[in-house]
Amino acid sequence: MFFRQVKHHGDNFSYIIADQATREAVVVDSSFNADEILRVLKAEGFTLKYIISTHGHSDHTAGNFELKAALGGQIVAHGLSRIRVDLKVEDGDILKVGGIQIPVIYTPGHTADGICLLVDGEKLLTGDTLFVGECGRTDLPGGNPRSLYDSLFNKLLRLNDAVEVYPGHDYGSKLHSTVGEERRTNYVLQPRSVDEFVAFMQEP
Ligand SMILES: [Zn+2]
Repeated sequence: MFFRQVKHHGDNFSYIIADQATREAVVVDSSFNADEILRVLKAEGFTLKYIISTHGHSDHTAGNFELKAALGGQIVAHGLSRIRVDLKVEDGDILKVGGIQIPVIYTPGHTADGICLLVDGEKLLTGDTLFVGECGRTDLPGGNPRSLYDSLFNKLLRLNDAVEVYPGHDYGSKLHSTVGEERRTNYVLQPRSVDEFVAFMQEP
């Protein structure tokens, strides 16, 4: 599998995932990195199948139409997203790029349309749901700390410790992590009841 974490402008991460054999690629969170993404896609001779947004915030979607105009591909987001899409996905859907399987995990809380993507069972792209050492804020429109608790504790933390975590922003002490490492060290993931978590998220 070809897998590239891109950070070219600002602190947003974009991801390029491709099947080396079929040369099909998917971009996750184009953000402000479209020029660098296009450079890589062209250099590698990849075709672009999907342009996926983990949620509708503009810092994650900014390059979608530039990529689509240049190389085609379908823009993909959760069914509740307000961005313009070609394909809506729900929890449990599986996107396929060549031989690579990308199941969609619905993870609302930072926004109502948040998704995480579990690439081939080994790499988890977490958007603004989970960062290295932090989680997404819940005080923006559509944010909900109870939903985020469910997404973090009942969905993401049920994954295997070895699953690698690739976040939507470079906010941590390093570029990526693992579920096990976040479970052990991330202060927002320490054991709390739902009510304790909601109070914790509302602390100034
Ligand atoms: Zn966001």
